[in-house]
Amino acid sequence: MTDNSQFHAASALVQAAHTVSVVGHLRPDADAIGSVAATVAALQQLGKDAVGAIGQLDSMPENLYTIPGASNIKFGDSLPESDLIIVVDCGSIERTGAFESIIVNNPDKVLVVDHHATNPGFGAVNLIDVEAESTTTILYDWFDAMSVQITPDIAHGLYAGLLTDTGCFRWGRPVMHDMAKELMEFGLDIRAISSALLDQTSVDDLRLVGQIVSRIELREAGPYTLAVLVADFDTINGRSRAVVEGLIEMVRAVEGADFGAVFKEYERGVYTVSLRSSNLSVASLAVHLGGGGHIPAAGYTARGTEIEALDTLIEATVTLGESLRSSAHVDV
Ligand code: 5GP
Ligand code: MN
Repeated sequence: MTDNSQFHAASALVQAAHTVSVVGHLRPDADAIGSVAATVAALQQLGKDAVGAIGQLDSMPENLYTIPGASNIKFGDSLPESDLIIVVDCGSIERTGAFESIIVNNPDKVLVVDHHATNPGFGAVNLIDVEAESTTTILYDWFDAMSVQITPDIAHGLYAGLLTDTGCFRWGRPVMHDMAKELMEFGLDIRAISSALLDQTSVDDLRLVGQIVSRIELREAGPYTLAVLVADFDTINGRSRAVVEGLIEMVRAVEGADFGAVFKEYERGVYTVSLRSSNLSVASLAVHLGGGGHIPAAGYTARGTEIEALDTLIEATVTLGESLRSSAHVDV
C-alpha cells in the first residue's frame, strides 16, 4: 500500500524539481504510455518542465499513439538532464532500457511509481502498491494528493492503463470500478478508447494470428502442462507488434494447461517471453529466469534457439515445481 507519508515524500521531490524526466518501460504497453503521458501532463500543469521518455530506439505499436501526449514521448538512448527522474510501471531497473545506467548512478534523483510484485524499490522514494491494478491507479491517487486537476487528456491516459492492466475489468478490486466511473465523468469516449487499444484489426493481422495460433502446442513440465505459442522471427518480422503482443491473451486459460507462454522472437535468437496463469505464480518463474512481473502475468528474455528457449522454461518449471502454487492465490 502507498500511504500518505510516501505521497508527501514523492510530492516534495516534485516540488523541489524544475525539470523532470518521466520514464516508462521497454516495449511499452498502455499502462506504461498512459502513465508517462498523464504524469507529464500533470507535471506541466504544476509548472514543471517535464518530458516523457522510453529507453529504446524502436517506436511502439501505432494504437498506443491514440493516448493523448504519446506522440511527444521521446524514444532513444539519451535522457535529457533533469532534476528528477520519475520511473513508472517498471518492475526493475533493467526495464528502463538505455536509461539504466543514468538511473543506477543517480539514485537520489529517482522516484519509482509501480505495481509489480517483484519491484525491489530502486528509487529514493518508491510509490509501490502491488494491490494496484495498474500504475495509473497509483498515479490517480497521487495526483489527487498533489491537487492536480484531472483533464480529459489525463483521464484518457489513466483509463488506458486501468482498462488494459485489468484485462478489461476482468480482475481487480471493487475500487477499480469507482476509478473507471470517475474518469468517465471527464467525457471519455470509452468505446473509441477500447476499440483503439484492444479491438482494431486487419485481414493481415488476422492471418498473422492464424499462422501463429495454428502451431499451438501443449508441453508437459513436471507436474504442469504448458500451452506454448512461438512467434518466430521470420513470421513476425515487419508485422504488427500489437498483434504479437496480444497473442498471450489467447493462452491465458487454455483447457488442460496450467499456464500459457508466448515466445516472441523480435530479434533473431532473442525471445521476449510472456507468461500468464490463473493458477500458478508465473512471477516466480520469470524471476528465476531473470525477469519479473505480477503473480498471474510475468515475463523475461531468453537467448538461443527456439528449442533451447523452450527447454529452459520447461526445466525452470520442473525445478520450481510445487513452489509455483504457493503464492498463486494472491490476486493482482
Ligand atoms: P508482458 O508479458 O505483458 O510483456 O509482461 C507481463 C508482465 O511482466 C508485465 O507487467 C511486465 O512489466 C513484466 N515483465 C515482462 N518482461 C519482463 C522482464 O524482462 N523483466 C521484468 N522485471 N518484468 C517483466
Ligand atoms: Mn502496469
